[in-house]
Amino acid sequence: MLLYSTRNKQNTVSFKEALFKGLADDGGLYMPVELPKLSSDFFEALHIMDLQEISLEIVDALLSDEMEPMALNNIISDTLSFDIPLIHIHDNIHCLELFHGPTLAFKDIGARFMARCMSYFNRSDKREIHILVATSGDTGSAVGNGFYKIPGIKVHILYPKDRVSKLQEMQLTTLGENINVLEVDGSFDDCQALVKEAFKDKDISEKLTMSSGNSINIARLIPQSFYYHYAYAQLKENEPVVFSVPCGNFGNLCGGIIAKKMGLPVSQFIAATNVNDVFPSYLRTGKYKPKISRSTISNAMDVGSPSNFERMSDIYDNSLNAFKADISACSFTDQQTRNMMRSVLYKYNYMLDPHGAIAYMGLMNYIGDIGSTKAIFLETAHPAKFIDIMEETLELKIELPDELKKALSGTKNVTTISKNFEDLKAYLLNGSF
Ligand SMILES: *Cc1c(COP(=O)(O)O)cnc(C)c1O
Repeated sequence: MLLYSTRNKQNTVSFKEALFKGLADDGGLYMPVELPKLSSDFFEALHIMDLQEISLEIVDALLSDEMEPMALNNIISDTLSFDIPLIHIHDNIHCLELFHGPTLAFKDIGARFMARCMSYFNRSDKREIHILVATSGDTGSAVGNGFYKIPGIKVHILYPKDRVSKLQEMQLTTLGENINVLEVDGSFDDCQALVKEAFKDKDISEKLTMSSGNSINIARLIPQSFYYHYAYAQLKENEPVVFSVPCGNFGNLCGGIIAKKMGLPVSQFIAATNVNDVFPSYLRTGKYKPKISRSTISNAMDVGSPSNFERMSDIYDNSLNAFKADISACSFTDQQTRNMMRSVLYKYNYMLDPHGAIAYMGLMNYIGDIGSTKAIFLETAHPAKFIDIMEETLELKIELPDELKKALSGTKNVTTISKNFEDLKAYLLNGSF
């Protein structure tokens, strides 16, 4: 697969290069030069195919020039070793549960796929690769889990001390093995700045082969297109559907757009956000104005400058009308989110986490106008990941799933560093500081 940089279409690279680089040298994001249309045979057979079969057809169309069929087969079956069920909620409304992976959030899918691709390309090189990732909570545990015990790869996760939840902290810090965790005395922005500086540092890049685990990597987007097809397959209907996606950095939505470009019949995407509404206000006003993010109860979507906006602008040629033809957008407050979480539990006996509740509201807002279309919203995290907010909002006790219980009973293993770059540099170069 050939990919270009969103800042220069002449600057093309292989998938392998895009995978290890993450960001192009010119600062752009990588996009496939071509997204092949899947055959009509594929779409006819979709309803009788399972998640792995569907995913294999898609990666085969995209990556078979760089990876052998057997390798792709193994990567898909290892990545997707859990189901992604579509649950009927009421009327034409369905929920795609993306939270059955090891860290109970949708980011598992992208992170596991990326990790296995890196391990594949590194199989003969035998260099040790260092993955650096800054996290405000969930990305770190998905990336850590994705690379857990993958040979030849060491992960270094940076998170802001005392600013992630107890559960998130335990999920991050109890993995051990090849997953190193650094607790930074600073904010998430400080963590991100440290990672950026490490990539620019000559001494570090001379000594270590480094790569980034954050969400701009194209290898995290490709697998996020699989489950849109699988959701459609589970509907067992042959009419176009509406997808509502809870958005932060818009990586999940980009996966959907890729699926549509490859032929999936999607009549509309709904990009639903919390009060961090840079994208909805762009669609309304035509002006893109990044902002400082505000804290909400759907905190994985607290993004003021969505990193995949540049990718979407590239796909839609910077045309507001082209954007609007495919995507509608809306934003919701915490109060609306809590009300909807209560209402859906009482009316339909289904527990939405705050992120899923925003996607559901996006759908309700839109469906109001169009009635009978089949519609799917994406539920991106297991409600128990946000146990405090859930219990406070719904006034009931929530049982922790085994994955989270296990993390809470594990042994915390972290190195504390200051937000001074010299600390991180010494740690990376010497293994201590
Ligand atoms: C990361 C995340 C999102 C936002 O996904 P993007 O791809 O950044 O738009 C939504 N919900 C949850 C639970 C997440 O962890």
